[in-house]
Amino acid sequence: MEAERMEYFRKKLHSMKDELISKLNERYNDALSFGNDGTQDSADEAYNIYNKNLMLEKVETDAIKLQLIEQALERIESGSYGVCIECEDDIEDRRLEFVPFARYCTDCKSELEKKGIVRI
Ligand SMILES: [Zn+2]
Repeated sequence: MEAERMEYFRKKLHSMKDELISKLNERYNDALSFGNDGTQDSADEAYNIYNKNLMLEKVETDAIKLQLIEQALERIESGSYGVCIECEDDIEDRRLEFVPFARYCTDCKSELEKKGIVRI
């Protein structure tokens, strides 16, 4: 991949990372403060626990995404960015545009998805 193109994705990944971190903090605080108003009966409590778990699940998904972004930035540093970690072919430009932290090319991803190994 050309250095210029690499730089473009580096910037993109960094802004995604910043965005994700602020979103994560927000969600995490929301989840923690949920149902802490002290005025709930047991039905409220069950509902609150359900919602809290739902929010924490989202936090987890974002945390995984953040990890993938970190790894993509590392691959940019080491010069292996944009190469599928499974078959070592170039990842399609179109795919990187949509998913800049993609680790797999489209073929490998759908193959791994079928086996239930990866979602991203
Ligand atoms: Zn591949």
